[in-house]
Amino acid sequence: MAASLPHVLLVSTGGTITMTEGAGAGIVPTLTGEDLVRAVPDLARIADFDVVSYSTKPGASLTLDDLVAIAELIDSRVGEGFAGAIVVQGTDTIEETAFVLDTLIVSERPVVVTGAMRGARAPGADGPANLLAAGIVAGAAQFAGLGTLVVLNDEVHAARFVRKAHTSLPSAFTSPGFAPIGRVIEGQAQCLARLRRLPALARPAFTADGPVALLQPFLGDDGRILEALPGLGYRGAVIEAMGAGHLPETFCEKINRLASVMPVVLATRVAAGPTFERTYAFAGSETDLIARGVIPAGDLAGNKAALLLRLLIACGAEGEDLRIRFTARTKMFSAA
Ligand code: ASP
Repeated sequence: MAASLPHVLLVSTGGTITMTEGAGAGIVPTLTGEDLVRAVPDLARIADFDVVSYSTKPGASLTLDDLVAIAELIDSRVGEGFAGAIVVQGTDTIEETAFVLDTLIVSERPVVVTGAMRGARAPGADGPANLLAAGIVAGAAQFAGLGTLVVLNDEVHAARFVRKAHTSLPSAFTSPGFAPIGRVIEGQAQCLARLRRLPALARPAFTADGPVALLQPFLGDDGRILEALPGLGYRGAVIEAMGAGHLPETFCEKINRLASVMPVVLATRVAAGPTFERTYAFAGSETDLIARGVIPAGDLAGNKAALLLRLLIACGAEGEDLRIRFTARTKMFSAA
């Protein structure tokens, strides 16, 4: 007798994978989750799908409140006997969505985010293959306990490391400085590495009133924008600094003032490698900026650091408590 198929919850939000020609020129999200599953008959061989068509939005228009709602949906439904869940969405924000879901979802079942680089009717559309690979990983017990995963191009990436590294290629998703933690080969999921999972953060009820600015200074920048942030209503800032966490000397006094009124996180604009904490000592170096009050982001990319900061602010964290809680989520590779 054939073994019964795993049950997988599929939540569709939109993105290129759902896009077809609209009334004008260009593609727009039109397909529902049900349409996507119907279009890939091979999915019926690997799992039974329960589909929720949450939205038909491009990835750029998803909000943090959408992600809190999707995390809640998945946590409340997966206990119903699902082996895992898939979230289908626009690739433009997959790295952010996956990171937020990874931060908020309590369930140990695999949660897989996927999408497509080519529209649903484009020659060589990658959506069907990505959906199939995502279904295989979501139904595979070996991927339980690894948090949220991103599956495209038959590779499995950890949410905290994955980046969109190309605007158009089906191989756009990478884990710079790391590697995929799994793959799908000949229809089988293979787990290649296991990462320690961090405990889930409490889901905030409302996230819209904790705006965080994300800035990327460049050579010759004088940092005057920092002075405007408090007046604009920002509650926190993330600075994607140069190299291992360095800023022009002209920023130093402004950093002192900003860090005295809101949390300021120091990330790096470099694609791979963490911010440093104990190497350089010039004005504007990482040790100088830390002494002025910034919180190093470690390996977290600026956009993920900004989302973590927003979530912590929305949970009511501030001051030293916020610093401790933020830092605890950046210390996966600490030697201590
Ligand atoms: N280019 C995007 C995608 O691949 C569009 C979006 O994020 O909705 O899905």
